[in-house]
Amino acid sequence: MLAYTYKDHGVFELTEKPKPKLQNSKDAIVKITMSSICTSDLHIKHGSVPKAVLGITVGHEMVGVVEEAGSDVLNVKAGDRVTVNVETFCGDCFFCKNGFVNNCTDKNGGWALGCRIDGSQAEYVRVPYADLGLNKIPASVSDEQALFVGDILSTGFWAAKISEIKETDTVLIIGAGPAGICTLLCAMLKNPKKIIVCEKDETRRNFVKKHYPDVIVVDSKDCLDMVIKESEHGGADVVMEVAGSEESFKMAWQAARANAIVTVVALYDKPMILPLPDMYGKNLTFKTGGVDGCDCAEILSLIERNKIDTTPLITHKFPLKDIKKAYEIFENRLDNVIKIAILNP
Ligand SMILES: [Zn+2]
Ligand SMILES: [Zn+2]
Repeated sequence: MLAYTYKDHGVFELTEKPKPKLQNSKDAIVKITMSSICTSDLHIKHGSVPKAVLGITVGHEMVGVVEEAGSDVLNVKAGDRVTVNVETFCGDCFFCKNGFVNNCTDKNGGWALGCRIDGSQAEYVRVPYADLGLNKIPASVSDEQALFVGDILSTGFWAAKISEIKETDTVLIIGAGPAGICTLLCAMLKNPKKIIVCEKDETRRNFVKKHYPDVIVVDSKDCLDMVIKESEHGGADVVMEVAGSEESFKMAWQAARANAIVTVVALYDKPMILPLPDMYGKNLTFKTGGVDGCDCAEILSLIERNKIDTTPLITHKFPLKDIKKAYEIFENRLDNVIKIAILNP
């Protein structure tokens, strides 16, 4: 089968690999119908994910059809359409039992697919702990509608869940890339009074304006003034930082009102500094929100009921054989790209 493979630092290549086989009675083999490219794949390509293993098939956002399930897999069977969770988790350890599946202590726990074990930019994938990592897609939900459930939509959902958003709140979301927009969609489910989206890229600002007209959209240079103007107590009640730069991190605590919650969803490529003397007395609560994909069933149910729709994010589609071209577009943000669906015919 074809598999997009991490060959060397800076080099991914489409290679021929044997179709994966069951290795454990809890595994399933999934025939991938659609996958996507995530910014984390680029982090692997450029060497900023030290755990990534050379030679693995990359990719961790996917939907597909169960081809074969091990004898201990009870929740799914061959022929079921499924989403695949970015995180592998055992369901038995302390963290899994408390809903923190991202911190599963199993040797394959956490982000393994497309990082430490073969992932989704291929024709088939082996999913360990398939009963936990796979969720059946409701019949009325398309592959496109379900594509982001296991990764960036779970990220947004988790971020909104831990941010304690109330209906009286003004929420500031910094960053309107794919994860920022997913965070926006999940924050909208909480019905806050106002949502302000701060984004420095004009194309992305226009995307948000076009699809979510109730949201206040602002360029990062005008963000602080806009937040003061639009909030009642001198800053945002909740700030969600999804942009991942030094500038956006600073904006996150500056734009927060006293006693606000600041949720950091973004991944940074270096340490960030909290200048505590400058924020003394502001009494902020910081939360860090690396994806915890424990709500996929609930997210699928929200999609089925038309409460979340991420299909506008899919701006481009390519067959797997042309994935190199898809990466070029995604990595260089060409042609107003937001997300790319990789299709297997
Ligand atoms: Zn990802
Ligand atoms: Zn576990």
